[in-house]
Amino acid sequence: MKTINLGTVTCSEYAFGMWRILDKYSESSEVTSLILELEKIGINTLDTAQVYGGGLHRAERILSDFCADQSRRERFKIITKAGIGSLDEKGNTIYGFYDFSKANILNSVDNSLKALNTNYIDVFLLHRPDYFADFKEIAEAFAQLKAAGKVIEFGVSNFTPIEFASLQKYLSKVGIKLVTNQIELNPFTSEHIDNGNLFYLKGEEISPMIWSPYGGGRLFAKNDPKNQVIYELANKYNICVEEVVCAYLRATNTNPIIILGSNRLINYQKIASFKGLELSKQEIYQILSNCADFEVK
Ligand code: NAP
Repeated sequence: MKTINLGTVTCSEYAFGMWRILDKYSESSEVTSLILELEKIGINTLDTAQVYGGGLHRAERILSDFCADQSRRERFKIITKAGIGSLDEKGNTIYGFYDFSKANILNSVDNSLKALNTNYIDVFLLHRPDYFADFKEIAEAFAQLKAAGKVIEFGVSNFTPIEFASLQKYLSKVGIKLVTNQIELNPFTSEHIDNGNLFYLKGEEISPMIWSPYGGGRLFAKNDPKNQVIYELANKYNICVEEVVCAYLRATNTNPIIILGSNRLINYQKIASFKGLELSKQEIYQILSNCADFEVK
């Protein structure tokens, strides 16, 4: 499988998304077995967040058994995110706000390290923009985490180009370069086309991490008229609908990491059977118009 560098961290071009992990698994050891199967198809990148699992750090904890073995921990790249809510003094989750304060970032990382049972995070992301953030506090927290070896690289998620560029400008003062913006991209949304992110990330040569590539499962509603063009193309080329969508995402020319959210191994093994479809411009815009109601004038 192709690899993609997020700064110094070398990721597989497809990642295992762990947002929904607790829907299916409750045992850490079961998840370890699944991840070791994913390794056989070349996936080395695990995407989680402190907020996944219905309470801070719950989904991260399912990786504790996996991380207990130092050799396999080091073969994998762990991405986690913080900034949505925080823990109170009793360890209860409080939601309803974004918080990029220095104290919350530092506490979040320490709590993630404990939950994951590891001593470093490969890529740490600010999950959703905290509009009231003090950039000085973010810069101080990041510099401290880097110096302590707790985080290798930093990035953001769900940022617009102006938000990304503004924070990057400030972080440059402490020598930190954001390595990715994790954004929702699939045929059903044109949000990051409309807000300029696709152009911006290409110009900056920053690989996005793509979340909900299959629209959170929407792709699999065969009879949804919004899916019609994708199913017709799959039929025409005798390939699966997943390959059509991944070809569409690759056609953005952003060198993306695609985070799949399935809990089933078979859906990752499918990637190995992709036939290498390259869509024409006409097909790409047919998908965008049909699925996202995008108007080509
Ligand atoms: P997705 O891959 O678009 O959707 C996955 C869902 O589709 C699962 O419920 C899966 O169920 C279902 N599905 C049904 N048939 C499938 C098939 N044939 N192949 C694959 N999936 C099938 O992705 P997502 O879960 O919405 O998001 C992926 C990852 O992105 C998350 O796990 C998380 O790591 C990340 N994410 C990030 C953010 C952010 O704000 N940064 C937000 C959302 C997600 P089964 O498990 O039964 O296959």
